[in-house]
Amino acid sequence: MKLTIGWLYPELMSTYGDRGNIFVLIKRCEWRKIMVRIIPVDFRTTDKEIESCDLIFGGGAQDRQQGLAIDNLLKKGSTLKKLFDRGVPGLFVCGAPQLLGHYYMTGDGKKLIGLGIFDMESKHFGKDKPRCIGNTVYRWNDKTVVGFENHGGRTYLANVKPFATVVKGCGNNGEDKTEGAVYKNCIATYSHGPFLPKNPHVADWLIAKALEVKYGKKIELAPLDDSLEWQAHEFMLHKKS
Ligand code: GLN
Repeated sequence: MKLTIGWLYPELMSTYGDRGNIFVLIKRCEWRKIMVRIIPVDFRTTDKEIESCDLIFGGGAQDRQQGLAIDNLLKKGSTLKKLFDRGVPGLFVCGAPQLLGHYYMTGDGKKLIGLGIFDMESKHFGKDKPRCIGNTVYRWNDKTVVGFENHGGRTYLANVKPFATVVKGCGNNGEDKTEGAVYKNCIATYSHGPFLPKNPHVADWLIAKALEVKYGKKIELAPLDDSLEWQAHEFMLHKKS
């Protein structure tokens, strides 16, 4: 089996180790003899190349880099939405989902109109409002996910389900206990860390979904030895700060 993974603006959008998520996806596929091709989805990418993707990843970015990417990303909005509407999964961290909602208001008060794929809006209230920084624990269905957040923007969901519930940390806004959002098989989250190394169950959920959509059948992934990954997960789960 083969997978093509599209990576949104790798040179602009990969804060706090987010590129580590790509390495996890590559390794977990390789260990199972699934061939992986990574393509950047950025200024040079054609719609046809985007259509060939089986999974999309987008990492975090500072306001400035988000501002540099958004005009080009908007041109790709309808192609990406078509992909997601036929079930292609995605993982979007922090700055990326802010651009996939209706808009992101930067710390300087500049409104970046987003793709509107996730029914939500994000606002940075300026330097006087403290950033959300720290290790996080969330509940994802009956499981836990751990991460690290560092964002000035706050996200408010409209008619869209959160990805998870906050156990520790701010999550979307520090007010309503929601964390991230879900559109079809796409996950938005504020979790850096990077996220997937300590959450192998989320990595495999994404890989299985990508294969299911591509090959049109239910996929049982071969189990891997994840003892180190779960040790890291457990450590973060019980860490005091
Ligand atoms: N610039 C955005 C914010 O501060 C996103 C930051 C990030 O991706 N870590 O909210």
